[in-house]
Amino acid sequence: MNPEPNPNTSSSTPIRVRIAPSPTGDPHVGTAYIGLLNYLYAKQRGGQFVLRIEDTDRARFVATSEQMIFDALHWLGLTWDEGPDIGGPYGPYRQSERTEIYREHVQLLLANGSAYRSFETAEELEAMRQSQLAAKLPPRYNGAHRELTPAQIAGFEAEGRASVIRLKVPAEGETTFRDELRGDIKFSHTNVDDQILLKSDGFPTYHLANVVDDHLMRITDVIRAEEWISSTPKHVLLYRAFGWDLPRFWHMPLLRNLDKSKISKRKNPVSLIYYRQAGFLPGAMLNFLGLMGGGMPAGTEKNDGAEIFTLPKMLEQFTFDRISLGGPVFDLVKLKWLNGMYLRALSPEEFQQQLREVVFSDHYLAQVGALVQDRIETLAQFGDVTGFFFRDDVQPAPEVFLPKKRTLEETLVFAAEQLTALEASDWTLEALDPTLRALGEAKQWAVKENFMLLRAILTGSTQSPPLLESLVVFGKARTLDRVRRFLEAQKKTGKR
Ligand code: GLU
Repeated sequence: MNPEPNPNTSSSTPIRVRIAPSPTGDPHVGTAYIGLLNYLYAKQRGGQFVLRIEDTDRARFVATSEQMIFDALHWLGLTWDEGPDIGGPYGPYRQSERTEIYREHVQLLLANGSAYRSFETAEELEAMRQSQLAAKLPPRYNGAHRELTPAQIAGFEAEGRASVIRLKVPAEGETTFRDELRGDIKFSHTNVDDQILLKSDGFPTYHLANVVDDHLMRITDVIRAEEWISSTPKHVLLYRAFGWDLPRFWHMPLLRNLDKSKISKRKNPVSLIYYRQAGFLPGAMLNFLGLMGGGMPAGTEKNDGAEIFTLPKMLEQFTFDRISLGGPVFDLVKLKWLNGMYLRALSPEEFQQQLREVVFSDHYLAQVGALVQDRIETLAQFGDVTGFFFRDDVQPAPEVFLPKKRTLEETLVFAAEQLTALEASDWTLEALDPTLRALGEAKQWAVKENFMLLRAILTGSTQSPPLLESLVVFGKARTLDRVRRFLEAQKKTGKR
C-alpha cells in the first residue's frame, strides 16, 4: 500500500499541531522539547498549537501532573491556543472527558469489520505469551478470536467473560507511510500486532484515542518523538479503517544521554521541576532545547554568539529542513554553560530578583525557617544549619555517610535502593516515613542507619534539622538528583 496524498494537509489548510503529554508524573524535558518544536512549526506558519492531555492510562495517572505540565510550559514561555485550561472549538481537550467519543468510534470499526471483540482471559493471554516465548517467537496476540461467529460471541457473553476490541491488522502485506524527515517507512503486517483499541473497562488505548482526537481536532501535522514510529503503522491503519485522511508525520530525533542512550532519569535529571528549582533560567532552557536537533543555523567563527538566541529569534531562523537525525545529546555541562551566560547577561537588579524568586523565595524561607527556628541562638547561625538547602551539591565523606558496621559496597547498594524507593514515593511525611521504614525492614537496615545514610547524602553532615521534614521542603526532584549525584560520585571514586 502506498501512502495516499493528504488532501487534509494541502497548502490552503490552516496548520494545526498538538502536543499530547500523559500526566504520569513530573513534566519531562522531552515534552518541552517537542512542545517547542510544535510551537515553532505552528507559529512560523500562522497556525494553531493545541495542548491535549492524554490521561486514559488510569494506572499511571498522577493527579498533580497536569497542572505541573501547564506550569512548566508557561515557565518556559510556551503558550497554546487551545487546551484543557483555556478550552477551544474542538474540546474537551482531556481524553478522560472524551471516552464516549471513542466508544462511538470503535463501533464504526466493528461495523465495517476493521476491528473485532476478543474474549481471552488474562490467564489465557499469559499462556499464549509463554508458549510464544518458549518457541522463541515475539509475543503477540495470535488472532484466535478474529473470526468469531455470532454464536461464539453469545457463548462467551453468556459465560460472563469481559472483552476487549482489537484492530484487525491485515494478515498479509505492509503499511507504508511518509515521515517528513525520513521519507517512506514500511512495516510488514507480520510485525504489527492486533492492537487493543478499547480495553475491557471501556477506556481506549493510546492508539485509538490519539488517532480519533488528531482527526477530530483537525491536526494537520503530528510532530512527536521518534519513539512513536513503531506505533504509526497502527495509526495509519486506523485512519484508513475510518476512511480519514492522514496528517503529516514528523518524528523528531530523541534526546540522548551523553553515552547516546535514550535520555533517562538515571543519567540526567529529566524533570522540568528540577531545572526550575535548581535555578536554571527559562530562557536558557528554551535556548538549549532549541539547539537540540539542529534546526538553528550553525555559528561561524566570527559569530560565536550563534548558540545564544531567544524565542523570537528561533521563530525567525529555525527551520525544520535543517533538523538532523543524529540524536541530540542533552549535555548538562553545555546547559550549565549556557545558563551561566544568561545569568551574566542579567542586570544586578534582575539577578537579585532571580535569587529572590528561586533561591530565597518567601515560601522557601518560611519552610526552611520553620525547621530551624528553635535550633539556633543567633540569626547568623541560620546559614550554619541550613546550608544544604541552598547548595547545588553536597558530597559527604565516607566518615560521614558510612555506618560503622557496613561496608562501602553494601552501603552504596542500599543507597541505590533508597533512591528507587524515593522515586516511587509520594512526597509527604505520611508517605516518606513508611516508605523508608519498609525498605529498611526488607533489607535489614536499622532505622537509625537507614535515616543517617540519607541524612548524610541530603545534608553532607551527620546533624541536620529533622530528616523527613527536610526532604519534603527540599523537594522530590532535587532530592532525587542529590542521591543520584552521590551515587555517581561514589562510582567515579570507586573506579579511580
Ligand atoms: N501521549 C503520548 C505521550 O505521552 C503522545 C504521543 C504522540 O504525540 O502521539 O507522549
